[in-house]
Amino acid sequence: MPAIHRRNSIPVTIGNIRVGCDAPVVVQSMTNTDTADVESTVQQIAALARAGSEMVRITVNNDDAAKAVPYIVEGIRAKGWNTPIIGDFHYNGHLLLSKYPATAEALAKYRINPGNCSIGRKDDDNFRTMVEVAVKHQKPVRIGVNWGSLDQALLTRMMDDNSRRPDPLDARDVMMEAMVVSAIDNAAAAERYGLRRDQIILSAKVSGVRDLVDVYTELASRCDYALHLGLTEAGMGMKGIVASTAGLAPLLLAGIGDTIRVSLTPMPGGDRSDEVRCAQQILQSLSIRSFMPQVSSCPGCGRTTSTYFQELAERIQLYLVESMPEWKKIYPGVEELKLAVMGCIVNGPGESKHANIGISLPGTFEDPKAPVYVDGHLFTTLKGDHIVEEFQVILNDYVQRRYGKQLVGA
Ligand code: SF4
Repeated sequence: MPAIHRRNSIPVTIGNIRVGCDAPVVVQSMTNTDTADVESTVQQIAALARAGSEMVRITVNNDDAAKAVPYIVEGIRAKGWNTPIIGDFHYNGHLLLSKYPATAEALAKYRINPGNCSIGRKDDDNFRTMVEVAVKHQKPVRIGVNWGSLDQALLTRMMDDNSRRPDPLDARDVMMEAMVVSAIDNAAAAERYGLRRDQIILSAKVSGVRDLVDVYTELASRCDYALHLGLTEAGMGMKGIVASTAGLAPLLLAGIGDTIRVSLTPMPGGDRSDEVRCAQQILQSLSIRSFMPQVSSCPGCGRTTSTYFQELAERIQLYLVESMPEWKKIYPGVEELKLAVMGCIVNGPGESKHANIGISLPGTFEDPKAPVYVDGHLFTTLKGDHIVEEFQVILNDYVQRRYGKQLVGA
């Protein structure tokens, strides 16, 4: 597979995580608990970290939230997680970071929204105060522009300038340009106020897929700061997953993006960690990073009228999810494993041969037997009522044989 040529961004260190340049694209997420509720927030950060979130952002929106931060960081460390905790600041970050130095110290990075930290002011003193706190505590900063809270004074000025042009640009293009200008100008200001270039990450989030691709392509061409990617307000369920994937994939394939978040709206009672698994799956589907063994399964059709193979595919998928926490520790490289679960002989044996282990179930009117392929060769043919259990035994043996060996040599 041809390599993706990553954009040569400036690396940034956030706690124990390196972002940018040749570091792996980092998966991050954000809590939706009340930050002032230390216990709930610690629980959710631990769940996100367990799911694979390598950095977790929490909102710091008032005094109670700011006071809670050191206890949250202490709580998550006590649970054995080194995950960097990032503070998300809007409107009053200058006040909170100045008033609570223990909070400023406990956080691994500050996210500053330049569009709402200086509302109603003619200067950028609030922004400068936050940067100065970051400099004092030697913390990196993400300057996170969002089109929902874009600097209105900047946008108005650029719209006015545009209207005076003989050939005015489309309002959408001016908005995209304003986002890029806001990110780059504020990064330059942060440098003037003392941050190093390797302490700055930029983002410019929009909620439209084509807008996202355009704004990040432009931003990437005009600076070498590390970039955090994400489609903001991606939405719920399938819409959010598909829109995020459609937006992030072309950028990641072009080598743009050093850290990503998938901003899914959780279903009522849903699992916040879905956004982490979705981000991982995007990276793995693009062959950028591997997190989990992958199961290829056919969609089924009229050739297989029973739901047996769908159930098998689901059971194998669940088995992998349940096994991975332990497997990751004892079988290095197991996340590269590829499985195939296919509904009939049309594509079953062919797809199975491309996987490490593949099973082709009998379609309607086919002999009731399921050939299993291991590393491209017919290994055995399963029959009867215990195909799933026997397939799991073959899978376990393979994992142990192939990935357990590496421990011996390690
Ligand atoms: S592999 Fe067989 S069952 Fe699956 S979609 Fe193709 S023809 Fe249908």
